[in-house]
Formats: sequence, C-alpha cells, structure tokens
Amino acid sequence: MLTKKEQLYEGKAKKVFSTEDPEKYIVSYKDDATAFNGLKKGTILGKGAINNRVSNFLMRMLETKGIPTHYVEELNPRETVVRKVSIVPLEVIVRNIAAGSLSKRLGLPEGVKMKKTVLEYCYKNDELGDPMVNEYHILAMEFCTKEELDLIAEYSLKINEILSAYLKQCNIELIDFKLEFGKTSDGQIILADEISPETCRFWDSNTNEKLDKDRFRRDLGGVEDAYKEILRRLLGE
Ligand code: 5GP
Repeated sequence: MLTKKEQLYEGKAKKVFSTEDPEKYIVSYKDDATAFNGLKKGTILGKGAINNRVSNFLMRMLETKGIPTHYVEELNPRETVVRKVSIVPLEVIVRNIAAGSLSKRLGLPEGVKMKKTVLEYCYKNDELGDPMVNEYHILAMEFCTKEELDLIAEYSLKINEILSAYLKQCNIELIDFKLEFGKTSDGQIILADEISPETCRFWDSNTNEKLDKDRFRRDLGGVEDAYKEILRRLLGE
C-alpha cells in the first residue's frame, strides 16, 4: 500500500502528498471550508470524509461508463490515491438549471431550466478571481490544445448525462457543477479534482431544498446535515 511522503501542496480544502510511486499522489481532504475566493472561512464537521467518499463513489461510477479519472484507491475515509496529473488551469462549469453567478449575470431567476445545457470555462487563478474565458482565450493562452479542449467538453457533457440520470434516482436534481481536468505524464486528459456537494449544486427533486455548499455560502444553516444527506442518498449510509 502506498504511503504519504512529502506534502507537495496545501489548498483550501485538500492536501496533496507524494508517494513511493512517482506517478501517484495521495490526496487528504480537510474539514476547512472557504467561499468567495477565501473571503468566507469556516469548518464543516465531517465534510472532508464525506466529500472524499462521495467523489470516489461518483468517479468509480464514471470510470465504468468510459470516463477516465484520476481515482486509484480509497485508503481511508479522508485519503485517496490518485494519478499524478498536471492540472489544466480551467474550471469547467456545466449548468442545467439557472443558479448562482449565471442567474446574476443574465438576470434569470434561480430554478429556471436552461433550454440547452450550458458549458462555461473559467481560468483557474485565485488572484484574478477565476475569470470566465472562452475558447479563443484558452487557445491564445495555451491552457490546452484545441483537441484537448474538445475532449474536455465532450467528457463534461457526458459526465453531466451520467450524473444527472443517476442522481435523479436518488431524488436529487443536478443544477450545475464544476469539473477540473488534468494531463498525465503520457499526455492523457483525465477527470481530476473532486465531484461532491462542494463542487455541485444538488437540490432535492421534490422540495428544491439545497443539499450543497450554498448552505454554507449563504448562511442557510444545516450544512453538516445536508452533506450527510447526500452521503446517505448516494452510498446508503
Ligand atoms: P457559480 O458560477 O454559479 O458560482 O458556480 C457554478 C457551479 O460551479 C456551482 O455548482 C459551484 O459549486 C461550482 N463552482 C464554481 N467555482 C467553484 C470554485 O471555485 N470552487 C468550488 N468548490 N465550486 C465552484
């Protein structure tokens, strides 16, 4: 079994460690919560373990449906072995229903169904506040190649179809979510980062109750319970 060697990085929600295998890292999820580019800080008890387990569960499912991911092995509730990648500096946002920044930007009330799935790209850069970019910016800045971007878009839309259908069975509406992709040392584009209540908007299909990080961002209370509810509906615990 691989073990943690040197800490390579500490982000807002995770730490990343090297291992005995140069092609593998160990990710360790924290309970620290931040929002609005670090302006709002807090702790969500049990969040790290829930996000780790939910994300691993969803990545394993996506793998069975042909989406390559960085997931290798869950070591314990908080820690996972992942493939080493260099992250493509893009946040890929997929939207089915208007909410959050799209509602603000376009004046669409939250909850309005989009006639077509919306794909957005943001440049992953905290100092700049993750500005939205289009395909021209991405290619001009050489964040990735045209072929890689086409594959990222194709994977993102397929992930949306797979997750939306699965979550519906759990009585959860997938409103929108953020994905990140990385490139392996042999040039393969794979899904990286996490898919969890941290990175997705999940609404209860019947009541529209928010079961995700918006409870923390908007001070709605019941944050821990919402994360636990997602774990329960997805993994039956
Ligand atoms: P919005 O642009 O409406 O704020 O976010 C759209 C979706 O992407 C939401 O599901 C949100 O959780 C996710 N998202 C966008 N940017 C980030 C980010 O920097 N961190 C996290 N955790 N999620 C993000």
